[in-house]
Amino acid sequence: MSKHLIGVDLGGTNLRAAVIDRQHRVLTKFECPTLAIEGSQAVINRLIGGIEEAMRQAGLKQADIAAIGMGIPGPLNQKAGIVYSTPNMPGWENIPLAALVRERTHITAFIENDANCAGWGEFVTGAGVGVRHMMMVTLGTGIGGAIIIDGKLHTGRDGTAGELGHICIIDGGRPCGCGGRGCVEAYASATAVTARFKELLDQGWRSPLAVKRDFLTTQDIFSAASGGDPVALHIVEETGHFLGVMASSIAEFLNPDRCIVAGGMIQAGAILFDAMRQACLNRNVHPSRTMEIVPAALGGNAGLVGAADQARVRLEAGE
Ligand SMILES: [Zn+2]
Repeated sequence: MSKHLIGVDLGGTNLRAAVIDRQHRVLTKFECPTLAIEGSQAVINRLIGGIEEAMRQAGLKQADIAAIGMGIPGPLNQKAGIVYSTPNMPGWENIPLAALVRERTHITAFIENDANCAGWGEFVTGAGVGVRHMMMVTLGTGIGGAIIIDGKLHTGRDGTAGELGHICIIDGGRPCGCGGRGCVEAYASATAVTARFKELLDQGWRSPLAVKRDFLTTQDIFSAASGGDPVALHIVEETGHFLGVMASSIAEFLNPDRCIVAGGMIQAGAILFDAMRQACLNRNVHPSRTMEIVPAALGGNAGLVGAADQARVRLEAGE
């Protein structure tokens, strides 16, 4: 029997480690708060503890594990195994994470961007099964993405390809967290959706959600949109439109089979997806009009499964 793999998903809020078999099944999973405020050393200790706990629960030893794959939320160098920085976790500057984990666990370890891991997970066992070329857009506080071309994760020259959130959809448009303007993230991330909703309220649009103004979540807005609230409906449709404009641009130069949309916002359902599809259909060009747009299938496990399987890919490539 082939050895198992370990997938790690290091998030700003929670960290998770799982033992995953060669059929991409999650055998055991450990989860705990990241407590990022305690700094990188404490988080790395917790991460290694999580790996050991997931192995213990599965009754496995170091010799039973082929490799560890870790999804990290920030710019990094895959080949060198170094995390350059993480926007939401203090004390992570140039951390040689892969080497540190290898030293402590005596298991080969690899790192990859977390959105790439989630995209790869969907590709191998989720909504991307059956295609060779796909993109994934992950909608959260920001917007992440992954690009898979001809069955391979495309990471680019610096390992930072797939930052779909910073594709410009409106030149000189809304300010984005990256310092630029007009990025799709400034329009369609969860943060941007609630901000745009409040702006309409400030302009005098009337919605029953006005009473919750300062505590609004995207979930509130999606429920209200399904319930027929015209302000919420407008915002969700417009969000789908913005995402469609972005997806169509990518469709034109990559010609992917499928665009997968992930993240909590996919709960918005048909209103969001139909608007996104319509924006692509409005384009008079074949790749946009024929690309499938579908919701992600794996939920929170995509990153774990994808991190583990990317470790397999890199181990087999002789890294
Ligand atoms: Zn940006």
